[in-house]
Amino acid sequence: MFGSGIAQGMMITLRHFFGPKSTIQYPEQRAPLATGFRGLPRLVFDEDPEHLRCVACSICANACPVEVIHIDTHRGEDRKLVLDRFDIEAGGCVYCGLCVEACPFEALTMMHSFEMAVYNRDQLFWTKEMLALKATPESEADRIRIVGGNEK
Ligand code: SF4
Ligand code: SF4
Repeated sequence: MFGSGIAQGMMITLRHFFGPKSTIQYPEQRAPLATGFRGLPRLVFDEDPEHLRCVACSICANACPVEVIHIDTHRGEDRKLVLDRFDIEAGGCVYCGLCVEACPFEALTMMHSFEMAVYNRDQLFWTKEMLALKATPESEADRIRIVGGNEK
């Protein structure tokens, strides 16, 4: 009984020793991130970073449970809201995705990356210029997955 237990344990050890490795040598090697990975929220544009999809409605800022989205606006000549400021305090974001879910204009997605380490907390303050992200099939698939749909 005792011997068969040891043999069984050795079999498991050998199977893992010669089987596929589950450890990777980060940062030289990186595991692929799943579609819908929740990195920092980003402001989507289609062609021109000066023309974000965002219409400055502030719904996302109101949806954020930790109030790290800061938006300032003014009315343009056509009475439409113009976005003056859209900042995210990345150091306080809890990556919940509620802002992405709340946005009615598909103007937010989440960054497909987690590497944001900095030496100074002030550097975790992202302005709208820093947050601008060109829409790609991958970023759209992330956004759709985050809002609870299935990417095409
Ligand atoms: S909810 Fe969407 S459109 Fe409205 S301010 Fe936020 S990102 Fe812009
Ligand atoms: S992901 Fe969550 S915590 Fe981060 S900005 Fe959006 S709503 Fe706020």
